[in-house]
Amino acid sequence: MATILASNDDSVEGSSSTNRVPHWKAEMKQAVRSGRELCELVGVAREISNLSAEADFPVFVPPSYVRKIEFGNSADPLLKQVIGVSEETQGFGQIDAVGDLPAQRAPGVLQKYAGRALLIASGTCAVNCRYCFRRHFPYDDAPKGKQLAAAIDQLTEDPAIEEVIFSGGDPLTLSDSTLADLVARCDSSTGLRRLRFHTRLPVVIPQRINDELLGWVGRLRLPITFVMHFNHVNEICDLAIQRLHALHRAGANLLNQTVLLKGVNDNPDALCELSNRMLDARVMPYYLHQLDPVRGAMHFEVPVQKGRAIVDAMRKRLPGYAVPRYVCETAGEQSKTPL
Ligand SMILES: *Cc1c(COP(=O)(O)O)cnc(C)c1O
Ligand code: SF4
Repeated sequence: MATILASNDDSVEGSSSTNRVPHWKAEMKQAVRSGRELCELVGVAREISNLSAEADFPVFVPPSYVRKIEFGNSADPLLKQVIGVSEETQGFGQIDAVGDLPAQRAPGVLQKYAGRALLIASGTCAVNCRYCFRRHFPYDDAPKGKQLAAAIDQLTEDPAIEEVIFSGGDPLTLSDSTLADLVARCDSSTGLRRLRFHTRLPVVIPQRINDELLGWVGRLRLPITFVMHFNHVNEICDLAIQRLHALHRAGANLLNQTVLLKGVNDNPDALCELSNRMLDARVMPYYLHQLDPVRGAMHFEVPVQKGRAIVDAMRKRLPGYAVPRYVCETAGEQSKTPL
């Protein structure tokens, strides 16, 4: 408990001249993997956590995220995102709600939309989000090691692909040397025009935006966009703002996508504050996603009617560019669907 609640210690951050484990990897190693333990750490009744929910989808929460949960508050908006509860076991919802499996052009390579292909670059995440639309994805079949380079080569040889999206899981769980190699492959191809990363690591462990990462980002010829995934203002800390600012200075475009979640962020105040803080960090609000009807996540669903009212309220309070596009994903469609 003492280590878990210790303050952010940046001193062990990765440096190529030492063999010390980078801070972000140490955080991942120390992740809490039991709902009961998580409840004890944040001072709520352990009965909230449910073992069969955890058996279906493990609990995984690094200490840096645990520290952002308010002690003693069983309704904390961050705790709700990561603790397995009995509602998950009711059996409603689908295994592949967004049609990922039929959209695979090769194992771990998804193409749904024109010009863009999404690569499952890693099956590992910085945190397991209970509402995840890929909580049932067959990550074991996705490419690993040398297969990743081969998958990228296939995409860069396809003249119809202009943008490679590194996703997962979380692509920033790969090492910087691996990432530098993979993006260099993309960068030296003649067909690609853009690169993109979908990641929650800067939310959970902001130290992941380290010098090595800033280095390979800064060397790219192609424009690169990071789509972050902040759902609530309590997830943002000063360190995250600083590091995102550094990533922006290194030349990356920064966007944020949020999932509309019951009891977490389903009101205009929460989402307006989130947009404002995103702009403080040079991050542009991009998508507000309607929950995908995923088995085990249906208790997070907010009616579309209510979602529309929230976005209308936001539009009256924020600059136009700070209002995210409210969308849902329907299997087989050629884009996300505006709501
Ligand atoms: C959401 C998604 C994208 C990205 O869509 P944009 O509208 O360009 O952000 C790309 N590929 C897949 C498979 C997706 O699910
Ligand atoms: S980080 Fe993304 S892919 Fe991983 S569990 Fe959360 S929502 Fe799912």
